[in-house]
Amino acid sequence: MPGLVPGVGTADRQEKWGSMALGLQGFETTFANPFTIRGIGVHSGAEVTAVFNPAESGTGIVFQRIGPHGEVTELKAVSATVGNTDFCTVLGSGPTRSIATVEHVMAALYALGIDNAVIEVDGAEMPVMDGSSAVFIEAIEQAGIKTLSKKRRYIRVLKTVRVDAGSSWAEFHPYDGTRFEVDIDFDSPAIGRQSWKGDVTPASFKTELSRARTFGFMRDVERLWAAGLALGSSLENSVVIGDDNRVINMEGLRYADEFVRHKTLDAVGDLALAGAPFLGLYRSYRGGHKVNAMALKALLSEASAYEIVESAGQRPSVAAPELIAVAQAGYRPWTA
Ligand SMILES: [Zn+2]
Repeated sequence: MPGLVPGVGTADRQEKWGSMALGLQGFETTFANPFTIRGIGVHSGAEVTAVFNPAESGTGIVFQRIGPHGEVTELKAVSATVGNTDFCTVLGSGPTRSIATVEHVMAALYALGIDNAVIEVDGAEMPVMDGSSAVFIEAIEQAGIKTLSKKRRYIRVLKTVRVDAGSSWAEFHPYDGTRFEVDIDFDSPAIGRQSWKGDVTPASFKTELSRARTFGFMRDVERLWAAGLALGSSLENSVVIGDDNRVINMEGLRYADEFVRHKTLDAVGDLALAGAPFLGLYRSYRGGHKVNAMALKALLSEASAYEIVESAGQRPSVAAPELIAVAQAGYRPWTA
C-alpha cells in the first residue's frame, strides 16, 4: 500500500514501508467458539472428525489423537514432534499415536494468527476436504477469533540459514515481515517452472494461497495405492495430471499457477511448526515437506540465527520494527 505513505522515494523503500505497514498481532489469540470439521483422509480414505477447541495462552496448537479404544495421544504441533515427511507432514509415529496431513490446517491457523487451540481427531490423519486450506479458513472465520491478554512472541530471523538436499534447497533470511519466495521446477510441462513471492498476511493468504489444492500425477497413483497411500485421493480433493500431461479435473485450475501456490501453502503450514510465528523471508527451490522440516530445524538449532521478540507497547497491532527482543531463557516453543 505505497499510497498510504506519501513522499516515499525508491521502489525498494516503498517495499520496505509496505511491509512495515502490515499490522502484526501484539497479543495471542484463540478461537472465539469451538467448531467441528468432518471429512475423509486423503491417504486412508477413512472418515475422520476433528473438533477444534479454544485454548489458553501458552497452550500452542495441540492435537489430541483419539485411538480406536478411546486412548488419547497428545501431539504438540511443533518441530520436535514431526515424524515422517515423505508424502505429507506427520506428527508422532505409530498407526494409533500419530496424525498425518496436518500442513493444510496448520497453514490456515498460522495465516489467521491462531496461537492456541486443542484439536481432537478420531483418525490417523486430518480430513483433506478440497485439498486446500479454504475450508479451515472459512470455519475459523465463522467461529471467530478471540484476543488473549498475553503478548505474542515472534521468532525473528537474524541471519541467513541454508539447507541443501540434492537439487533442492531452502533458506531463511532477515526480513521485516513474513515473506515466502517459493520456486518449483517439474519435468511435467503441465507444471514446469513456477514461482510465488509475497508477504503472507491473513488477507494475502486467503486470496492468493488458501484455495490452492494438492496435486499429483496419474502415473503415480497405482504405486501409491500399492503402498496403501492416496486411497482417499480423488478429483474432489486433488488436481490430477494425466499421462497426456494435461490437468484431468473438469473445472481446471483455480489459479494459473496453482501448483506453486499449493507448495507455498504447504511451506506456511510446515513452518508453523516453529510453535511461534516467524519474522523473516523463507526461500525454497524444489522444496517440499522434508526440506521445510530440515530448514526449520537448522534455523532453530542455531541460537545466533534468531531472537525472540514481542511488542514493546500495549496495542493489539504492531509493526515489525516496534518489536523488542525479550529474554528467551527456557522459551523454546518448538520443543514438545
Ligand atoms: Zn499440501
